[in-house]
Amino acid sequence: MVRKKLQIVVSVWVFAGLLNILPWAQADAKTVEVFPNVFTIVHGEGIDSNTTFIITTEGVIVIDTRVTPAEAKKVMVEIRKRTELPILYTINTHYHGDHTFGNQVFRGSKTIIAHKNVRRALMGSAGKEHLEFFKTFKIPGMDEVTVTPPNMVFEKSMEIYAGEYHLQLIHLCRGHTDGDLFVLLPALKAVIAGDLIFNGQFSYMGNGYVDEWIEALDYMENQDFEMVIPCHGDAGGKPIIIAMKHYLLNLKSLVRKQIENGASLEKVKEALGPVLREKYESWGKQKRIDGNIERTYMEISL
Ligand SMILES: [Zn+2]
Repeated sequence: MVRKKLQIVVSVWVFAGLLNILPWAQADAKTVEVFPNVFTIVHGEGIDSNTTFIITTEGVIVIDTRVTPAEAKKVMVEIRKRTELPILYTINTHYHGDHTFGNQVFRGSKTIIAHKNVRRALMGSAGKEHLEFFKTFKIPGMDEVTVTPPNMVFEKSMEIYAGEYHLQLIHLCRGHTDGDLFVLLPALKAVIAGDLIFNGQFSYMGNGYVDEWIEALDYMENQDFEMVIPCHGDAGGKPIIIAMKHYLLNLKSLVRKQIENGASLEKVKEALGPVLREKYESWGKQKRIDGNIERTYMEISL
């Protein structure tokens, strides 16, 4: 298969009607053909989780479904511009609503695949609570969400062969959540990393496990990849993995030093907030720094 480099912008959605009206509005969302028949829809600011879809000769594989059915339908429009083939598989990289609350639009694929902990997190009262949490963000269209958990789950890994594509779904350990998977595309030397990688922004770490997250990134870094497709921010090369890993290592060692000096959580936030803001001044979502410190502090203190 001919490998093609990043950034062939195929089309641009402009949500002009939303501009300047809603705080989370997207200036635009691009559909980027990362490789032939492998497309990633990349957002700008706000609820900016990416969706990747792969058009095989047998049908389409969708990885992550966005935050509302309305957003998921926009993905479907992008798919239908390119093919009438059926949706074969839908994959959730983890349970967070900005990756799963569009699942109902892809129910026709029959299979929604994820790590087993994703099903647990979206079933019953846990799923309802997560939806209520997302409703506090006042995102239009949340009332249309019917929480739709994955119906095919695995524990460590599974493989999909569809048309000319071979996908390896791997849950190495916990990281961003307790049910992350990343998707390897060995023939393309590519990885779809889920939220284990945020490119150019501070990650949400509220459900994270810092040590295991570093372990997962270490594994990815040592694979033979040239292309990394994160679920927040643009795709790129291996430096994206390295930047994310170094951030977590840095965070961990800074927080550990403070704890060794007997600092309280509030004191650690006061001391490290400015340091991290300056060191990563080009990164977006700086409001997450305190939460990142807190999660790391709790993990080290346990
Ligand atoms: Zn997430």
